[in-house]
Amino acid sequence: MAHNEAVDVVLVGAGIMSATLAVLLKELDPAIKLEVVELMDSGAAESSNPWNNAGTGHAGLCELNYTPQAADGTVDIKKAVHINTQFEVSKQFWSYLTKKGTFGSCKSFISPVPHLSFVQGDSGVSFLKERFDVLHKHHAFADMEYTEDKAKMAEWMPLMMPGRSPDEVLAATRVMNGTDVNFGALTNQLLKHLTSAPDTQVKYCKRVTGLKRNGAGWTVSIKDVNNGNTREVDAKFVFLGAGGAALPLLQASGIEESKGFGGFPISGQWLRCDNPEVVKQHQAKVYSQAAVGSPPMSVPHLDTRVVDGKKSLLFGPYAGFTTKFLKHGSFMDLPLSVRAGNIGPMLAVAKNNMDLTKYLVSEVMQSMEQRLDSLRRFYPEAKAEDWRLEVAGQRVQIIKKDPKKGGILQFGTELVAAKDGSLAALLGASPGASVTVSIMLELIEKCFPAKAKGEWAGKLAEIFPAREKVLETDAALYRKINTQNNIALELVEESSETPSYA
Ligand SMILES: Cc1cc2nc3c(=O)[nH]c(=O)nc-3n(C[C@H](O)[C@H](O)[C@H](O)COP(=O)(O)OP(=O)(O)OC[C@H]3O[C@@H](n4cnc5c(N)ncnc54)[C@H](O)[C@@H]3O)c2cc1C
Repeated sequence: MAHNEAVDVVLVGAGIMSATLAVLLKELDPAIKLEVVELMDSGAAESSNPWNNAGTGHAGLCELNYTPQAADGTVDIKKAVHINTQFEVSKQFWSYLTKKGTFGSCKSFISPVPHLSFVQGDSGVSFLKERFDVLHKHHAFADMEYTEDKAKMAEWMPLMMPGRSPDEVLAATRVMNGTDVNFGALTNQLLKHLTSAPDTQVKYCKRVTGLKRNGAGWTVSIKDVNNGNTREVDAKFVFLGAGGAALPLLQASGIEESKGFGGFPISGQWLRCDNPEVVKQHQAKVYSQAAVGSPPMSVPHLDTRVVDGKKSLLFGPYAGFTTKFLKHGSFMDLPLSVRAGNIGPMLAVAKNNMDLTKYLVSEVMQSMEQRLDSLRRFYPEAKAEDWRLEVAGQRVQIIKKDPKKGGILQFGTELVAAKDGSLAALLGASPGASVTVSIMLELIEKCFPAKAKGEWAGKLAEIFPAREKVLETDAALYRKINTQNNIALELVEESSETPSYA
């Protein structure tokens, strides 16, 4: 075995999370020495790959599950507002990099695509109307439009209106300034940018197999997946950006904060259409409501995707059950993650979520015809021959201890960090890639608190002139930052401020 090398930072996994953190750290401290270690032979091979996620630039504009309705009919918009401003923080980072000139074009990863919400039936319509009434009074949603007029809906969603019964009760909202993001292209652009800087390495076909405490830092064991050779690298800080596989690595670290966490993997599938005659009739991401009893990640949507300059349509996702933590993972991932410390929470979740289990089993058992029936709720005249089934990425939902229920299932993301700030892991999946930058800023504040407030504060303020909290409340500042970001990312034309569609 070779003698240990030493770096400042090891980042496990070459997905959007590690790539973002690595570039951000290098901006804050150009002298930092870091290594990204990736199991596959390229970046963005798992959830960050464009065909493994929906590519929605989540900004709370269309996702109905971000605005829950209480029993008295009131709609809570807090989560939608927060995600919207988090996305604006991501856009600030991408704008900053794009303006540097050496980063490459933003057109390769972000495209303007309107975001729509679409509901059917009286209760859906009254929910959407209430949601619109509350939401459009907030400055982040001031441009939202609402309609129950079918002629207008035919303008907004020409593919979705023909073939419907005239009696159908429908409503929709639209925000023109939505986006489709190719998170795979963005990840690879970040990785390319990273390796142009000194003292940075991205190593592919290498698996992190172990982590051991080493004084104030860590010794990371790395195995070459082609020849089986191993090496050990000493690092002051380790980020576990291994997507679904972050949990077993966090467990391997043995840190106190890892105790009690478990994972609940959920797989996904899409229907994809590349027929240009169909694709050209839909220029939107249209989100609707999840079926009663189904989990939030099963919200159906019909999306325009822009990948490598080509447009396609994606419909889904259809959820499924698996025991793998990664799409390219092992069926032993789930059983091997069971520990004395998480078996209680995992059993409690299994017992208390029978509805979810039943839902997943029913999704897995669906025939192609049943999947097309779901699509036809959106696009009544859909033809089977235009659509094919594709496998999406894995999401590993978080299971954690709960004093009352024993264990709970959580659908968001959670940053778990060692008390001394020497290691952090990102668990969970949603809203995910869109809010990566906010999550990585949270990591920096948690794990590098002195530097974040001291020597890095000036650079942080230069890259991020306005953070989430102030954007939530300061309407004038929000409008200024939003306009600057949209111009820098070529989402609007500088003179018109209207979206410039590809
Ligand atoms: C079906 C689906 C739809 C989604 N839709 C959206 C959406 O519309 N908008 C949005 O913002 N987000 C969406 N997401 C979430 C988003 O895709 C993820 O949050 C994001 O891609 C996670 O990035 P990551 O870097 O953490 O993980 P990943 O991209 O999964 O990267 C982890 C990397 O770690 C590597 N790795 C794992 N173990 C090891 C090891 N031991 N050693 C070395 N390398 C290792 C893997 O090979 C992989 O490359 C969706 C996710 C799914 C599954």
